[in-house]
Amino acid sequence: MTPKIAQFLAEQKPATPCLVVDLSCVRTQYHALHGALPSSRIHYAVKANPAPAILRELHALGSFFDIASPGEIDICLEAGIPAQKLSFGHTVKNVRSIAYAHQKGLTLYAFDCLEELEKLAEHAPGCEVFCRLGVVNTGAQWPLSRKFGTTPESAFTLLQKAHELGLKPVGLSFHVGSQQTNTEAYGDAIAQAAGIYHRLKKQGITLDFINMGGGFPTYYNSPIPSIDQFGQAITKAMNTHFPDTAPRILLEPGRYMVGSAGVVHTEVVLASRRGGGDGDPRWVYLDIGRFGGLAETEGESIRYTFQTPHDEETSGTSPCILAGPSCDSMDVLYEKNLIPLPDEIKAGDRINILATGAYVSTYCSTGFNGFPPLDEYYI
Ligand SMILES: *Cc1c(COP(=O)(O)O)cnc(C)c1O
Repeated sequence: MTPKIAQFLAEQKPATPCLVVDLSCVRTQYHALHGALPSSRIHYAVKANPAPAILRELHALGSFFDIASPGEIDICLEAGIPAQKLSFGHTVKNVRSIAYAHQKGLTLYAFDCLEELEKLAEHAPGCEVFCRLGVVNTGAQWPLSRKFGTTPESAFTLLQKAHELGLKPVGLSFHVGSQQTNTEAYGDAIAQAAGIYHRLKKQGITLDFINMGGGFPTYYNSPIPSIDQFGQAITKAMNTHFPDTAPRILLEPGRYMVGSAGVVHTEVVLASRRGGGDGDPRWVYLDIGRFGGLAETEGESIRYTFQTPHDEETSGTSPCILAGPSCDSMDVLYEKNLIPLPDEIKAGDRINILATGAYVSTYCSTGFNGFPPLDEYYI
């Protein structure tokens, strides 16, 4: 929680639930990542939080942007970002989306199979393409494997095929999984990409870049490596695998860029040891839940930190089950990993959920069960 957000909440007393994002944190994160890997080009993954204020802030800092749909293209163009600064990083696109991107002037596209490559050759002729490798996502708390990426052997074949189809093969990409807490995950993936890079070079195809995706973690409630440690691991792997000239590094951070910049401000609707016995668990129902934006609590994968008004003066805490406000019994945030909260917690108390700037606002339903979507403030 930054002083600016604390002051905003104290002065404005906004209705709950709401998300408040401190834009100066986004700037800090951009500079820290750029400082850790100075020669990299950063393509912010727009899906993490597409708020125009964030896009404009990052654009002013020189960021590029990674988008996945015509909707995200429009948001970026409306924020004043030129099409040349957008990459279409999604490997699964319908032909209308490809044609739309091409018409708007996007030149860089991802693929991971022959069929997608053929769609690109037809609907975005002459474009630059990069092939996504499937890499293991061990160490990631929100894995992105299985659904995307191909084998090294097929990447080697497909990038040559791209050339034959009149496209420009310019890179390889991978994503080590979101909220990746193991710095070595990048090194292993770089080793794979380097193997293909060198084989292609012998065939007369020199790739411009390796796109290392995102994955850089946000601090929630357990220790994570610093961004400099990630930078060192990546630099070391690049030096090992590219002793002569190295391709450029592209990064697609989402969570890292905005996660720590946001706070969800929520109200307790009900707090009760239902059943009444001492052994019965205490339930705390908030006015935001799984459908109000906290979708990453699925499987209790992402574990947020909760700040309550009683943290300083509590007489004791009890492990609580945390749930959302809707009538759906799936709408429980944490049930296996109970959250210790002060016993004084009662209906009407305001609770802050820290580091919720990424993957919250757009995961919010349009009004499930009549609960209005989260308000957002960018300060
Ligand atoms: C979601 C996504 C990202 C961002 O990942 P983070 O873990 O949030 O940094 C980057 N690249 C692609 C292709 C993605 O789908």
